[in-house]
Amino acid sequence: MTAVTPIPKPTPRKTPPELDALRAEVEQVNFELLALLSRRGSLVTEIQRVKAREDIPTFLPDREQKMLADLVERNPGPFPSAAIRRLFHEIFRASVDLMERERDRVLKVSRSFRREDLVVQVGERAIGGAPVVIAGPCSVESEEQMDLVARALREHGIAFLRGGVFKPRSSPYSFQGLGARGLEILARTAHRHGLRTVTEVMDPRSVGIVAERADVLQIGSRNMHNYDLLREVGRTRKPILLKRGLSATIEEFLWSAEYIISEGNENIVLCERGIRTFENATRNTLDVSAVALLRQQSFLPVIVDVSHAAGRKDILAALARAGLAAGANGIMVEIHPCPASARSDSHQQLDFAEFAVFLDEVAPLLTARAGAASRPGRTPTEPA
Ligand code: PEP
Ligand code: MN
Repeated sequence: MTAVTPIPKPTPRKTPPELDALRAEVEQVNFELLALLSRRGSLVTEIQRVKAREDIPTFLPDREQKMLADLVERNPGPFPSAAIRRLFHEIFRASVDLMERERDRVLKVSRSFRREDLVVQVGERAIGGAPVVIAGPCSVESEEQMDLVARALREHGIAFLRGGVFKPRSSPYSFQGLGARGLEILARTAHRHGLRTVTEVMDPRSVGIVAERADVLQIGSRNMHNYDLLREVGRTRKPILLKRGLSATIEEFLWSAEYIISEGNENIVLCERGIRTFENATRNTLDVSAVALLRQQSFLPVIVDVSHAAGRKDILAALARAGLAAGANGIMVEIHPCPASARSDSHQQLDFAEFAVFLDEVAPLLTARAGAASRPGRTPTEPA
């Protein structure tokens, strides 16, 4: 074995005291820059609060360009202009991120904006306190049909009558609803029986007539992203039932509600109606998590449309119970005097006997939630 000669350790060079001093000074500058950046962060957050109040956009590219040009002009060196641009561009980006965070934190539909649950008043009725049932046919088809439905609702003490008159159908050749004539039938029926109506509005140009004749304006799932329509209903002061888009995230859903509230109308009821998934045993998949999360993140009432979620009759009561247990403020369900002959969604509508069984099966949850609603207590933001 050959002996290994140890490599002598290099004797550490002594740092010149001048370098130590310069390094210390650079570190001090870092801390000063950090303090300045923090000050900038606080200022832009404050700016965002004013912008939100005055409805001014968060990001103004012209202003950013001007600030960059001024900085380059005043650049004393030694950093070249390109480096100054790059550095400040990063600072501006981080500042916009901060402002966007601040903007989202104060979403007008969020619980951080308003802590207490909102109760949406619909005439002498309300959605948001004790849970409600909204029932009626998929489509308004005739005066006789609506009269029979209204009688069934009254028999069960239900105040909200639904019925589509402008129908969003996948095929342009399917029944599109009775339109204005249907709206009149719906309004007359409700008036005769002392009920409140819910009906869909699809076109910003129809908002006026629907707002005049119906109590609650429904925005259908397919129109959740129709921002012109959202703004238009936001300009009314009518209660709006906003359905979640077929493939919308919870965040996108809340943004759509924000469109409505940003126009000054806070009378919004959110409706979870199932989302598209790979599962085909049901028409859609009822997202129960969304119910719990929406109740936690927003003060708006949430209801669950079990009919469009399931697309079948046999699990409607189970879905309604699940929705109510997760915190829903109400249930929407489709009923028809003779589902087999319905002009739309015939296989998912309950006849009156089935409806009575459905209500029996859901009653314990409705009663429990009604009891909880009358007791002052926790809001869904607080841990149990
Ligand atoms: C409806 O409620 O009539 C309807 C069409 O539902 P959705 O928009 O949820 O499909
Ligand atoms: Mn339907």
